[in-house]
Amino acid sequence: MSEYSNPHPFVPPTNFKLGSRTWRVKLVNSRRKWLGIADGHRCKIKLNTRRIRNNEELHHTFMHEMAHAIEFTLGWKLSEKKIDALGNMLAQIEQTARYHG
Ligand SMILES: [Zn+2]
Repeated sequence: MSEYSNPHPFVPPTNFKLGSRTWRVKLVNSRRKWLGIADGHRCKIKLNTRRIRNNEELHHTFMHEMAHAIEFTLGWKLSEKKIDALGNMLAQIEQTARYHG
C-alpha cells in the first residue's frame, strides 16, 4: 500500500535544458528489465512504460534518470546509491512543493 498522495499526477516533460544542452525524454515499450535509462552523450532519457507500474514509479524513475543527467552534466561520478538518494530528494521536492501566488 503506497502512501504516495497525488495532488496532481506526475507527467514527464518531453524535453528540458540542463546547462547548455537540451535533453529529450522518450516513453518506450521495451521487454528489457530496466525502468529507465539516461544517455549522457545523446542527452536522452528513456522511460520504459512496459516495466513502470504506476504514476509513483514513473515519477521516481524520471527523477532518478534526471539525477543521472545532472551527474553527467557536472562531470561527476556518483554511486547508484547516491543517484537514487538524489532522485528521491528531487521527487520529494516536486511532490510536496506548494507555490506562492
Ligand atoms: Zn541509475
